[in-house]
Amino acid sequence: MDCLDVVRQLWDYLDGELTDDRMEAIRAHLAACRNCYPHYDFERAFLDAVAATRREQPAPNMVRRKVMAKLRQAGFAGM
Ligand SMILES: [Zn+2]
Repeated sequence: MDCLDVVRQLWDYLDGELTDDRMEAIRAHLAACRNCYPHYDFERAFLDAVAATRREQPAPNMVRRKVMAKLRQAGFAGM
């Protein structure tokens, strides 16, 4: 696995959505690679900020859910 592979999959890695093998391969690469670590640091900080925002302001989720419900009522199937 090279740096490009790691950076491409970094978001999925941070979300924990990869297979165990891939999670482990990326974790090992990040621990050893000076090129990738700054990416990891930035994206983790970004996700932490998003998570903090969600905790403080649950409202946007409700708005989104209502919008989706309206769209479904209006006949947009599969949304
Ligand atoms: Zn790397």
